[in-house]
Amino acid sequence: AYVIAEPCIGTKDTACVDACPVDCIHPKKDETGHADSDQLFIDPVECIDCGACVPVCPVSAIYAGDDLPAKWEAFQEKAATHFGR
Ligand code: SF4
Repeated sequence: AYVIAEPCIGTKDTACVDACPVDCIHPKKDETGHADSDQLFIDPVECIDCGACVPVCPVSAIYAGDDLPAKWEAFQEKAATHFGR
């Protein structure tokens, strides 16, 4: 699955939410101020690895799981935890 890393923190642009064909990036714009998290997350089970979210992110926060920089490895687990996976 794709993973959203540190650059999203404090940005939460949500362009990726609109780009995702399977609607697996949360929280969405209409979820109460998306205040329940400091960043957006990709559901690791629902993601179909299409890559559509990558080019639309203004801060280049999204990586294929295999390409995730080692310094941001914890973001994989953070996403899984967010969705209770
Ligand atoms: Fe959605 Fe595709 Fe990005 Fe996965 S890679 S989060 S399916 S847009």
